[in-house]
Amino acid sequence: MSEKRVYLFGNGKAEGRADMRNLLGGKGANLAEMNLIGVPVPPGFTITTDTCNEYYKVGQAKIVELLSDEVTKAVAHTEELMNCKFGDPKNPLLVSVRSGARASMPGMMDTILNLGLNDEVAEGMVAKTGNPHFVYDSYRRFVQMYGDVVLGMKPENKEDIDPFEAIIEEVKEEQGVVLDKDLSVESLKKLVERFKKAIKEQTGSDFPTDPKEQLWGAICAVFRSWMNERAILYRKMEGIPDEWGTAVSVMAMVFGNMGDTSATGVCFSRDAGNGENLFNGEYLVNAQGEDVVAGIRTPQQITKIGSQRWAERAGIDEAERVAKYPSMEEAMPEIYKQLNELQDKLEHHYHDMQDMEFTVQEGKLWFLQTRNGKRTGTAMVKIAMDLLHEGMIDEKTAVLRCEPQKLDELLHPVFDKKALLQAKVITQGLPASPGAACGQIVFHADDAQEWHADGHKVIMVRIETSPEDLAGMASAEGILTARGGMTSHAAVVARGMGKCCVSGAGSINVDYKTKTVEIDGTVYKEGDYISLNGTTGQVYAGQVPTKAAELSGDFKELMDLCDKYTKLQVRTNADTPHDAQVARAFGAKGIGLTRTEHMFFEDKKIIAMREMILADTVEGREKALAKLLPYQKADFKGILEAMDGCPVNIRLLDPPLHEFVPHDQAGQEVMAKQMGVDVATIKRRVASLAENNPMLGHRGCRLGITFPEITAMQTRAILSAACELKKEGKNPMPEIMVPLIGILYEFKQQKEVIQKTAKEVFAEYGTEIKFEIGTMIEIPRAALTADKIATEAEYFSFGTNDLTQMTFGYSRDDIASFLPVYLENKILKVDPFQVLDQNGVGQLIEMAVEKGRSVRPGLRCGICGEHGGEPSSVKFCAKIGMNYASCSPFRVPIARLAAAQAAIED
Ligand code: ADP
Ligand code: MG
Ligand code: MG
Repeated sequence: MSEKRVYLFGNGKAEGRADMRNLLGGKGANLAEMNLIGVPVPPGFTITTDTCNEYYKVGQAKIVELLSDEVTKAVAHTEELMNCKFGDPKNPLLVSVRSGARASMPGMMDTILNLGLNDEVAEGMVAKTGNPHFVYDSYRRFVQMYGDVVLGMKPENKEDIDPFEAIIEEVKEEQGVVLDKDLSVESLKKLVERFKKAIKEQTGSDFPTDPKEQLWGAICAVFRSWMNERAILYRKMEGIPDEWGTAVSVMAMVFGNMGDTSATGVCFSRDAGNGENLFNGEYLVNAQGEDVVAGIRTPQQITKIGSQRWAERAGIDEAERVAKYPSMEEAMPEIYKQLNELQDKLEHHYHDMQDMEFTVQEGKLWFLQTRNGKRTGTAMVKIAMDLLHEGMIDEKTAVLRCEPQKLDELLHPVFDKKALLQAKVITQGLPASPGAACGQIVFHADDAQEWHADGHKVIMVRIETSPEDLAGMASAEGILTARGGMTSHAAVVARGMGKCCVSGAGSINVDYKTKTVEIDGTVYKEGDYISLNGTTGQVYAGQVPTKAAELSGDFKELMDLCDKYTKLQVRTNADTPHDAQVARAFGAKGIGLTRTEHMFFEDKKIIAMREMILADTVEGREKALAKLLPYQKADFKGILEAMDGCPVNIRLLDPPLHEFVPHDQAGQEVMAKQMGVDVATIKRRVASLAENNPMLGHRGCRLGITFPEITAMQTRAILSAACELKKEGKNPMPEIMVPLIGILYEFKQQKEVIQKTAKEVFAEYGTEIKFEIGTMIEIPRAALTADKIATEAEYFSFGTNDLTQMTFGYSRDDIASFLPVYLENKILKVDPFQVLDQNGVGQLIEMAVEKGRSVRPGLRCGICGEHGGEPSSVKFCAKIGMNYASCSPFRVPIARLAAAQAAIED
């Protein structure tokens, strides 16, 4: 028996279901499901994602052979339900051939509409419908899409417009009209002919007239579109594996371009930008498919309230709005009523915000797609909490609904309200994707990438965006477009990326040739600054200052829910009282890593530090360290105070000493003067500190072991600060951490120095502080001998940056030369310094936790590398029973959410 590759749907029946998205793609699975729950969908069939993978193995000819029987039967099934025949001029069936992967990749792959047309079929359709305008409009669209997707027609240069668009412009001029929809039947026929001619000229292929040949061409082209550049890039950005493949859905066409009782549109059951529970969307009368999202005509609103809000922003008064831009609710009330009922039905069925496509053909409503809508971080949190309050989902589901990484958007700055009052609004567009963005204007995607690579913040300004602009959009702070609505490509993609976007700012005049944009009478050049408010749609001249975000409202409620379910706590990495405060406000339960080295760099401190490094005797070093002591004490006091009542884990000096001395002539001269020695002495000392492998050299506890007075000074500073705070009535909770331990005896030796110093300090202050002495596990040997080390260490903190470095044997500072090649060739799937390598490094960690706890039950274990803020790594830490993860302040909410999800998923 051969494998089933094709799944039918239509007339309230389907072979697929919503939970078969891996096999049928999201689109195919939901088309099946909509059939099953009584939503009107044109009939058709879906070819599986596995077949796409097969296509890449066996090639086009073989796949056509393998599919032939099933597709022929499926076409017959569709013909029967539609009561017409594919390729029959008297009563033709036209179909769309649509891509659809497991995860939604809007606009990244290809779709072909109106397939099955040729000259004969077109004439047959004219006879049947009496509507030649509609027929030739469909025909020219088909030739255009097929030419582009299957036959590979392209503009020759990036500045050129699409070759088909160029022909349309030409024909419009010949006829003397401005809008596509005003093209006469004769002009449309001309388009079909000229398109075919252009295709022949550029590609050498004749346009296929046989509908069956067209169908196979389209199916295989959709398979191929899985591997087009923009789809590959999108998958990379979203972490979607190449192995998933796309399904192909072939379905009967319904026509939104049959006249004024026909329309096509896109709608959302809630607001994808801010999460508001308000049905919304856009539609165009007498239009087809991509017209709404392509931004060529500015679409109208579906609901009256949406339309009124839109008009207010556009400065259009109510009378004009009703006359010229009525909402669907007003213009087609019957259809609107059905649409509204069905969107609500779908949201209740899927228990999530839906993003839907529909078409109205001569007064009858059809659904063409539904999916869980992409949304901004703000909308994600609000919708999850609203659905919870509405009783549609439970608490755990609400937590699982939110993507940790997406919280990042809520942590970004917003425009400073005061500064906004002063700022000059130069134009107003649609609030397509919220946030504040400020940067220099660029006009092309590759310019955006280049400028960004050179360290500039850029705003990409376009007439409209297309999927080719993806990489540029990713590099920009924000996107401003002249055309396109809330569901335009720019808007949808920007929201998915969490990028600020203002779309449809109709009054701006973009000129790609001169690289200028005219806004409100002023000409802005490439490189000029503007600021965008994606939440209101306002555009400002120049740079508008921003201010930090805060945790409140729905966001806070979500975070509280996380605390209810989490087992893993989240601490922060902070070296200053300010960072500690920021992290606390974001819910950090303590500090997991305070690096002391950063404290040595401010002017007076660095002088004393250098004096210490220069000294060749213990006395000399002690003298210099005595100068450092008050600075260190003050620094620790600040941090302990900011984290009062919470643990603060302070790491003793870690980096090699050569990082503190100047390596250039000028710097060495200054140092010589400051130290009162000659430059040669400085040079000699600097040279003596040079190492071949500094990362594996004289650093970490090796410093403390060779210069115990450093450990003593730092311990004294920490504990004196704590004693003073205690006397002031505070509750300091210091932890002292010895870095880079590989051997138990290293730790023992340092612990003795710390304990001895502690006794002295407590005697001096006449008080005692409870504190713990722990170690970092960051050398593989430490992980391997964790059961020895835990006999002395009171806690473990996994320094996964060094542990990754030493486990892989990659120098973190030198990976740039080979890592990109590794990633490109899939030797590594991800950068192990960003995403914890669970298979390798993870084994060492898991083993060390187990071994450590075998001799010290309940040993506290945490992670403090960069990985502590990366969701999959945090989940791993939770899974193996760590006590906390520590990350930078702005990642604290992300780690809290990931930790809660790990507990719920468990
Ligand atoms: P994408 O995944 O890029 O959204 P789709 O496959 O959804 O591409 O199709 C592009 C457009 O064509 C959509 O607006 C869709 O609603 C429309 N469309 C697809 N199939 C049909 C059909 N059978 N009849 C009418 N419109 C269709
Ligand atoms: Mg779609
Ligand atoms: Mg380290």
